[in-house]
Amino acid sequence: MAAIDDIMSLFETKGSAEYGGEKVSQLEHALQAAHLAKTENAPPNMIVAALLHDIGHLLDDGPEAAHEHAGHAWVCQHFPPEVSEPVRLHVAAKRYLCATDAKYLQRLSPASVQSLHVQGGPMTDTELDAFEEQPFYSQAVSLRHWDDQAKTENLAVPGLDTYRETIAALLKT
Ligand code: FE
Repeated sequence: MAAIDDIMSLFETKGSAEYGGEKVSQLEHALQAAHLAKTENAPPNMIVAALLHDIGHLLDDGPEAAHEHAGHAWVCQHFPPEVSEPVRLHVAAKRYLCATDAKYLQRLSPASVQSLHVQGGPMTDTELDAFEEQPFYSQAVSLRHWDDQAKTENLAVPGLDTYRETIAALLKT
């Protein structure tokens, strides 16, 4: 269970860092995203993906633009693709939604609009086709919606410990 302890201590030591110019911390953002997944009756793999989607920010290495890759590199060591792939694709999902949903771009927070530029802007048609060929692209889109909503200041949601069993059940043995 070393991976669970790693997750707990990463959030403990670095979870209070601000979440990319938003009014919530990294830990608050992760807990709100996981709680949104749970509230929408998402399966356990998606609850864990929501909880861990930005773990790349806590791992220190890599520039902001590539946090999904740092996160994926870690998550895929410990969890199956149904957890790690939505994590890998969650930034691409934002670029996908910006290209396919006119209202989505209007709803993005100012900080998220700013990072969109760094992330490559809305997808081109070729990129859209390639994205839709990814086995977990629709899960990544679901994750993206929770990600975008998980920015409420001072929202009371269940704590990290409540996810222990769900995490443990999905860990690779
Ligand atoms: Fe996020």
